[in-house]
Amino acid sequence: MGLQEITDRIAKAEKEAGREAGSVKLIAVSKVQPLERVEAVLDAGHRIFGENRVQEAAGKWPDFRARYDGIELHLIGPLQTNKARQALELFDVIHSVDRPKLAKTLARLAQEEGKCPPLFVQVNTGEEAQKAGVLPKEADAFIAECRDLDLSLEGLMCIPPVDEEPSLHFALLAKIAERNGLSGLSMGMSSDFERAISLGATHVRVGSAIFGERQYD
Ligand SMILES: *Cc1c(COP(=O)(O)O)cnc(C)c1O
Repeated sequence: MGLQEITDRIAKAEKEAGREAGSVKLIAVSKVQPLERVEAVLDAGHRIFGENRVQEAAGKWPDFRARYDGIELHLIGPLQTNKARQALELFDVIHSVDRPKLAKTLARLAQEEGKCPPLFVQVNTGEEAQKAGVLPKEADAFIAECRDLDLSLEGLMCIPPVDEEPSLHFALLAKIAERNGLSGLSMGMSSDFERAISLGATHVRVGSAIFGERQYD
């Protein structure tokens, strides 16, 4: 299991970047991982996890929550509006707010529930057609719209294009966050979380480097 190694590397990256120890949150991305690997990480004491599909999360996390205290679950994948209610029941934080229709639905449900979880706006920094997220040039207006809806925005999230240097995308995300007064930056995965930390990541989303290769079947 790679949890200890990743925790150590995060601590080192925080130090090298002159960041406070413990200022970066590690989200262990457990999607498509065998349950025994997830259990091993829970048994090692880790409590912050990420899943990218509502349905998949619904199949395993209620049971884990019943058995382990203090779990914090983050939705890091696209959210359909018809699954928003279920997502709010399952997840503590949502990283994929990416369009007005979803923002409005979340605002309505938050009103009903009398509470809104911390949210991240996903920005499509690489302007990739197949990827979710608002375009960089639309981000300021969309953030303002979310604030008008009283959503509790914590920060921004991005997934850089696989074939580009991620640092440029991390820097762009940090710039958009800064000019909008947002402190949270959800960026950095197994292959680039140290670079993300050096550019201000507050949340890194690490899957395969902790659990091993994902087993799709
Ligand atoms: C799967 C996934 C990750 C983790 O990817 P690894 O390369 O396994 O660390 C991070 N973020 C998102 C949005 C993902 O879907």
